[in-house]
This record gives sequence, C-alpha cells and structure tokens, in this order.
Amino acid sequence: MDKWKCTVCRFIMEADKEPKKCVHCGADPHKIRALFKKVRGWGWGRFMD
Ligand SMILES: [Zn+2]
Repeated sequence: MDKWKCTVCRFIMEADKEPKKCVHCGADPHKIRALFKKVRGWGWGRFMD
C-alpha cells in the first residue's frame, strides 16, 4: 500500500491508488503527492518529499 500526502492539510493517507480527493479536507487529487512507494524487494523507499 502506498502513502499519499495532502499538500493542503498535510494529512497522510494510505491507499493502493492515488486518492480521488483528500479524505481529510477534500482537496483535489493534484494537491496530493505520493509520499512513499513500496518497491518489491526493497521495502519502503523514499519516493518523494
Ligand atoms: Zn487535505
């Protein structure tokens, strides 16, 4: 499962796909960035700040 961060309210979400909106403040998906991606064989790697 990937982690996603809302750049508006800084809420961290966990979802398999990019959320359609922030579940916390309802921000648009382009305001949400991938925070961590699970890489096969590498565990959790830093994907984006
Ligand atoms: Zn938000």
